[in-house]
Amino acid sequence: MNQNYNPYDNFLSVLDNAAKLADYSDEEYAFLRSCERELKVSFPVRMDDGSVRVIEGFRIQHSTARGPAKGGIRFHQDVDLNEVKALSAMMSLKCAVVNIPYGGGKGGVVIDPREYSSAELERITRKFTEMISPIIGERTDIPAPDVGTNAQTMNWIVDAYSALSGRMVYGVVTGKSLEMGGSPGRHEATSRGVAIVALEMLKKLGKDVLQTRVAVQGFGNVGSHSARFMHEAGAKIVAVSSVYGAIYCADGLAIPQLMKTCSDGRFENYKQAGVEYIDNAKLLTCDCDLLIPAALENQITLDNAAAVKAILVVEGANGPTTKEADEILEKRGVYVVPDILANAGGVAVSYFEWVQNLQGFTWSEDEVNNKLRHLMTDAFNAVYDESVKRNVSLRLAAYIKAVDRIVKTNKARGR
Ligand code: NAD
Repeated sequence: MNQNYNPYDNFLSVLDNAAKLADYSDEEYAFLRSCERELKVSFPVRMDDGSVRVIEGFRIQHSTARGPAKGGIRFHQDVDLNEVKALSAMMSLKCAVVNIPYGGGKGGVVIDPREYSSAELERITRKFTEMISPIIGERTDIPAPDVGTNAQTMNWIVDAYSALSGRMVYGVVTGKSLEMGGSPGRHEATSRGVAIVALEMLKKLGKDVLQTRVAVQGFGNVGSHSARFMHEAGAKIVAVSSVYGAIYCADGLAIPQLMKTCSDGRFENYKQAGVEYIDNAKLLTCDCDLLIPAALENQITLDNAAAVKAILVVEGANGPTTKEADEILEKRGVYVVPDILANAGGVAVSYFEWVQNLQGFTWSEDEVNNKLRHLMTDAFNAVYDESVKRNVSLRLAAYIKAVDRIVKTNKARGR
């Protein structure tokens, strides 16, 4: 990554642009230019071999104007303050765009989790929880899993936080396992949301789903289930990829079979007539109508944006399209449903998990899925209408909608 690149500066330019288009004065949205609370922690943890390492971490609350801060905790060696601040700010926008009563937060621990045993990760997680416990809580700031963390990490946080509180506090984090107060439907929620907005957008474009060819980058949680939901809706999934390689089949891949035999993303032994192995990078520019990047950030770039053949990109991943590539796609008339809308199904069902925890009552999976469908469809239509009204891209419309909601709530509070 460019040494001078500051992701928080990038957020500020997005914010300024959206606020200007929504006709807000500098004073009206100035509160969104800074993070409300920034906590940096540093703590010693004993390793399995008896040595002690000092670990650093952060928890940032960008905004609580619309409700408790909400956002994941990342365990990664490259975590730094500006990255966590930017991710925290993007969570404020994501929660606002799908209209759930949360602000934005994010946390990070500067470790490569692959270098630690499970027992060491548990000690790191418990100590980190203690260090950030003064600012997290079920009514103040609710973490969730992110890169390098999972349901087990969340279960440890609940246990450590509950011990400090003297009572079980299931609602302090979301993304837990079912036996620890997790929600039915959470695992596939992000991809279910991706498919819902993709299908809504195809309708707006007058494109029959049965005639739609889809390419999906990434065959992990978001990618494989997005492929499955689009396949179930009748689309033809012509290409998928993972870190290990990519496959293409003009007649459409048998997704259920692929998920059964290649859930680890290794496609080399997959048998289906007409399947060809393609270069990983080629997936992004292959012959298709809908492209779902669901792997990493910065995948559609200055180098390949002009060659993208899809008429619609739905961003399952966070930040898969660079700013320069976005401009190229827009000029070429390619529609992009932006990450803060397209992959918000995960945080939406996190919200449902939290509501169930506060109520002490579990909903059925059908109930969760139905509520998600309504929420994502309403959010999509609001963003789409805004983009038509202002004649701007869906990305800018989503930012405007989000900023508008946060600023209006802030004003209503008299601040
Ligand atoms: P995951 O680890 O389950 O899957 C990632 C997939 O990407 C894997 O199949 C991996 O092999 C593949 N991949 C990695 N490098 C690749 C490359 N160079 N080319 C092709 N494929 C490659 O992760 P996930 O949970 O599915 O998350 C994917 C993206 O979606 C991330 O950007 C994440 O931030 C975003 N996201 C996830 C959720 C969620 O609920 N899981 C919610 C919102 C956003």
